[in-house]
Amino acid sequence: MLDYRVIRSERKTLAIEVRANGEIWVRAPRRLTTRIIAEMVAERTAWIEKKRSELQAEQVVRPAHTYHEGEMHLYLGQYLPLFYGDALASENPVLSNRIVLGKRSAHTATSLEHWYRKQANILFPVMVNEMARHTNLIPTRLSITSARTRWGSCSARGAISLSWRLVMAPIAVIEYVMVHELAHLREHNHSARFWKVVEQFHPQYREHREWLKVNGRILLG
Ligand SMILES: [Zn+2]
Repeated sequence: MLDYRVIRSERKTLAIEVRANGEIWVRAPRRLTTRIIAEMVAERTAWIEKKRSELQAEQVVRPAHTYHEGEMHLYLGQYLPLFYGDALASENPVLSNRIVLGKRSAHTATSLEHWYRKQANILFPVMVNEMARHTNLIPTRLSITSARTRWGSCSARGAISLSWRLVMAPIAVIEYVMVHELAHLREHNHSARFWKVVEQFHPQYREHREWLKVNGRILLG
């Protein structure tokens, strides 16, 4: 679900504005119900995401990676060095303390992205399953996306999406995002009741939400 702020006035139509800081402001007529506003915002999700990416591209100055052997990249909240060569079958990057990519080439940035996606595809379904069992909040589907503007989302049909970029964050932060999206299966909003559900299953959520606010940009590297 997208976070947005509703500003009501005597106006007759609804207008959605994506602010420079990425916030979404929805200007709405006084009598429009929150449910209809939510639907109208949901319909414009693609446009909002596009707008946000454009704004972000303007703002984020990306650190220049050279991808030399030994260059440090984040994985599960730790910086691990890049290594070129053959990975052992089913090598665990945290135990082996390195990120193994085939050969260094002009496409190394893409290989590293594939590496992250692969880790996310191994890790996230297992974690979500575990958490769904624990919370009894069961999504209809899980997909792993390349979203740059949000870490996760939960559709009205109960499908959860998570960005592979999250695999760079510490485990506890990933768990927070998962609990957040699972909690949307019960509360499709960011009301006090919603945060109660999050807190019930992830008491440290404030700290981890803050971590993402502060460090999120690094994950977009
Ligand atoms: Zn949410």
